[in-house]
Amino acid sequence: MTVLGSNFDELWPSGPSPEVVIVGAGAAGLFAGIEAARNGKRVLIVDHAKKPAEKIRISGGGRCNFTNLETKASRFISQNPHFAKSALARFGPWDFIERMSAHKLTWHEKTLGQLFCDQKSGAIIQFLLDDLEAAGGRILMECEISEITKPDACFTVTTNKGTFRPASLIIASGGLSIPKIGASSFGYDVAKQFGHSIVETRPGLVPFTFSGALHDRFAAISGVAAPVTVTTQDKTRFSEAMLFTHRGLSGPAILQASSYWHPGEAITLEYLPAERVRSELTHARNTDPKKRVTDWIVEYLPGRLTADIFGETGLRNQIGTLSNADIDRLAERLSAHTISPTATEGYRTAEVTVGGVNTDELSSKTMESKLCEGLYFIGEVVDVTGWLGGYNFQWAWASAHAAGEAV
Ligand SMILES: Cc1cc2nc3c(=O)[nH]c(=O)nc-3n(C[C@H](O)[C@H](O)[C@H](O)COP(=O)(O)OP(=O)(O)OC[C@H]3O[C@@H](n4cnc5c(N)ncnc54)[C@H](O)[C@@H]3O)c2cc1C
Repeated sequence: MTVLGSNFDELWPSGPSPEVVIVGAGAAGLFAGIEAARNGKRVLIVDHAKKPAEKIRISGGGRCNFTNLETKASRFISQNPHFAKSALARFGPWDFIERMSAHKLTWHEKTLGQLFCDQKSGAIIQFLLDDLEAAGGRILMECEISEITKPDACFTVTTNKGTFRPASLIIASGGLSIPKIGASSFGYDVAKQFGHSIVETRPGLVPFTFSGALHDRFAAISGVAAPVTVTTQDKTRFSEAMLFTHRGLSGPAILQASSYWHPGEAITLEYLPAERVRSELTHARNTDPKKRVTDWIVEYLPGRLTADIFGETGLRNQIGTLSNADIDRLAERLSAHTISPTATEGYRTAEVTVGGVNTDELSSKTMESKLCEGLYFIGEVVDVTGWLGGYNFQWAWASAHAAGEAV
């Protein structure tokens, strides 16, 4: 008997059928499977892809940023900012670390509380599969679901690999990002079928694209990175690195901001605080008037970006020639450069989907639907979206733990 396969008869020992069916063998589905199976349930995870947990595999540049030590509800976007609190409080970063450590996996903190696996992301997938196998759960891959109904106390899940009649159905089919590796609208469709509302979905943690002159300017300095504070229209601020690309802007600060951005809105870039620009240039005008303005900017920003920013001002490149108004203009340009992205790169490259199954209609303790007994939604399909940096996996583990314990 094996834990993973694409043939139900080979996978499932003859005997009672699954009590819990989980749709999606991603981060949330595998973890919920472990928790439910450890509670003594007969668990079958079904997935339409060829391989389980492809997003774990490609995450964190192949090293899986599996959690964040700064995990708290304020690091998540949701229409109900309190919804995630209960699950996160009951299964936090150290709980997941404990599970990994039992398999001798080790980790390191990169920055801002972000924990990465030393043994690469494949080792995380393997430990989840091992725990699932030890608990008695099974995963049926290349399984296409054609219909779900609930004629009585149990669901009828009709698939190309058989029909199942579980009392509990956990939807862990993720969001819409990266359709190439199996993302689908399945979870939202099931939610709607059972009367749930969906908080409008949009790509998150995704690069911005620009058109016209801004596109050309950014493309000309693609590959350049600089520290920046990005402010979105709702005044959310992120101070991290930004990267110029052939299409526009990327890098952690931009990816973070994108989750708070709506089409048509502007963002503001601050490279240096205005007060510092004013005081340092005013001081240098007296003490070092022959110094080039670009030599001063380049103390803070890369040369190609400095040339781009200064070229746009049309000023003479000597600090001694700057008037107070010129210094104000530079301060404005370096501290509050407001630009409007044309769009984002969309679900093709987005790390997450913002929005999802409305949390008003789910129990925050168990993730069970308030509209349909036995139906659960966990992970990214729910309207809970983490910041960049391991928060999305932590939500997957925590929500899966809540549902897996409850079924
Ligand atoms: C490139 C990239 C890098 C990332 N890096 C990180 C990171 O380092 N840290 C972090 O916290 N987050 C990261 N994320 C986000 C993280 O991967 C997701 O938030 C997380 O995987 C969500 O888990 P999930 O189980 O809800 O969904 P998924 O992991 O997406 O799993 C959903 C599963 O459902 C299956 N499925 C979908 N539709 C159907 C259907 N119709 N029938 C059957 N099965 C179906 C899919 O095949 C998939 O296996 C990254 C995302 C991407 C795209």
